[in-house]
Amino acid sequence: MQNTATPTHCPYCALQCGMNLTPVPDGGVEVTERADFPVNRGALCGKGRTAPAVLSSSVRLTSPLVRSGGTLVPATWDEALDRIAEELQRTRAEHGPDACGVFGGGGLTNEKAYTLGKFARVVLGTSQIDYNGRFCMSSAAAGGIKAFGLDRGLPFPLEDIPKTGCVILVGSNLAETMPPSLRFFTELKENGGTLIVVDPRRTKTADQADLHLMPRPGTDLALALGLLHLIVAEGRVDEAYVAERTAGWEDARAAAMAHWPEYVERITGVPVPQLREAVRMFCEPEAAMVLTARGPEQQSKGTDTVGAWINLCLATGRAGKPLSGYGCLTGQGNGQGGREHGQKADQLPGYRKLDDPAARRHVAEVWGVDPDSLPGPGRSAYELLDALGQDIKSLLLMGSNPVVSAPRAAHIEERIKSLDFLAVCDVVLSETAALADVVLPVTQWAEETGTTTNLEGRVLLRRQAITPPDGVRSDLEVMHELADRLGVEKGFPTDPEEVFEELRRASAGGVADYSGITYRRLAEENGVFWPCPTQDSDAHPGTPRLFLDRFATDDGRARFVPVSHRASAEEPDEEYPVLLTTGRVVAQYQSGAQTRRVDELNAAAPGPFVELHPRLAARLGAAEGDPVAVVSRRGRAVAPARITTGIRPDTVFMPFHWPGEGRANTLTNPALDPTSRMPEFKTCAVRVEAVKS
Ligand code: SF4
Repeated sequence: MQNTATPTHCPYCALQCGMNLTPVPDGGVEVTERADFPVNRGALCGKGRTAPAVLSSSVRLTSPLVRSGGTLVPATWDEALDRIAEELQRTRAEHGPDACGVFGGGGLTNEKAYTLGKFARVVLGTSQIDYNGRFCMSSAAAGGIKAFGLDRGLPFPLEDIPKTGCVILVGSNLAETMPPSLRFFTELKENGGTLIVVDPRRTKTADQADLHLMPRPGTDLALALGLLHLIVAEGRVDEAYVAERTAGWEDARAAAMAHWPEYVERITGVPVPQLREAVRMFCEPEAAMVLTARGPEQQSKGTDTVGAWINLCLATGRAGKPLSGYGCLTGQGNGQGGREHGQKADQLPGYRKLDDPAARRHVAEVWGVDPDSLPGPGRSAYELLDALGQDIKSLLLMGSNPVVSAPRAAHIEERIKSLDFLAVCDVVLSETAALADVVLPVTQWAEETGTTTNLEGRVLLRRQAITPPDGVRSDLEVMHELADRLGVEKGFPTDPEEVFEELRRASAGGVADYSGITYRRLAEENGVFWPCPTQDSDAHPGTPRLFLDRFATDDGRARFVPVSHRASAEEPDEEYPVLLTTGRVVAQYQSGAQTRRVDELNAAAPGPFVELHPRLAARLGAAEGDPVAVVSRRGRAVAPARITTGIRPDTVFMPFHWPGEGRANTLTNPALDPTSRMPEFKTCAVRVEAVKS
């Protein structure tokens, strides 16, 4: 490896901040500023800055592990790979291909996500593949496809945000989840624009807002309907735009008119004057945006909730116009690309539908297989995990840690334990890997080249900066070796660029068309926005802004989707009178499998906590730091109290990064959105108890 700085990107969140990596004499790598990447202009949060610590961590796996006599013991690569191949073969022979499950991750590179989908369908012949991105952005994806005919997190670059007039940020605490992005909103305000934050907590992001709306968790849909009602009542609908560029307005209008502001105030707890102020701030400027994140999306009505916020944009003529529109702030590092290339239960590469005969023919031709041999759509992520040990006997898991991150986690942990066979690829012994029969130690971001697609739809080249340690192999090598052992000797290259070349062909003509994007272009142009169907950069520079001329529907018009308020799957009652909502803290990432191994991050965020209002704390007799128990219908979690007036008195908050006694996902509700199959992570009914010492 070279000793000069290698420009690359952070391994964590969907911002995919640019950074330089320089090898240092002890064999590690140092992060230095990379100012040429426009998303972060050199700024990094603590997670990105300390990411190299995971590369050289003392708990890094460097040998395959195979369970023997109940214990995981070191094994050779051949022993481990042979064992996985034998078990998958045995499962297929005894129970059929769908008894083999595959579970991927939104952090896998495009090349790995693509290969994993192909591996499941071509090598195993199973329909049972999905990934943890289902838990992250699937409601926004479903809402975007319904309204615009296409889902790309942001249909415009982040750089447009400071130039718009108003942003409504719904359910995103980006000051903690992706801190470098906060500058776009600071610049928005410096330019005279306004920021409205919708969140039941007064977060660091809400502290920046000109107006902070604090709805009860699970009522964002009603809130959006109330705002649309006022927009109609105050004559603020852009009638010309609605007539020219949309369809379905009358039904959406009628649904909104049934949601009187006073009724919405009763549901959400947001006072009518604040609703009116939000409408004024949103409608007065020439341009405005609505950005959603997990708050409104991780609900059993997440798709409808996203639809309601999109309706707001459409009614006011604020989609498909410069500096205006609806966007979703995707969470995971490759949350966008991870959903485009075939590891989703219902999709093929190029964001094609698995049940579309033309899509099957196209992809089957690229893969050199009979289209009829490709299985159909399988179970969604939670349903797949819930079927473990029952219909699904063996599981191959890559880039995910569902023992911590799945809803109703104690139940899912039991399901995982009931498997006949579990193989996990990971860099450390995560809580899920610790339950495996075989664990394969794999390379990480700085040790391998690959592409990711950030929350803007900007495809990026993550470059290898250092040589991997002895004993580890890449996920691509794992799939190559397993395919070979399972009788498919060709079609699973180990070179990422070779995989990307095939991915380009598979995506050609699809919604997410990468066919004009090459490694050379990514290196020279610092990323390219999809769709990009032409390799010549002069002929096609990529598409930073979507929908300016037409939406991606058959007739080019966006669709209003009529939606109405409905209750969450669990509302408070006598037994469970409080609402729980969950989220992240700045120093930890997702299930914490990597960040909990970094001393500096652990010092900043050592464990879970229960955030609660002083009135609730007083009722419990709990003081700051006292252990409190949060109990839902699914289990009990205990963590220290953190008392603040910055949360609604009817709500408690827990971060979800930790396993064990304080595991927030022990409590969360797997009630699924009927369209996206997204579980309702963001709200459930609980009771809170003081813990007697
Ligand atoms: Fe990495 Fe996200 Fe932090 Fe940027 S904001 S450094 S991409 S974790």
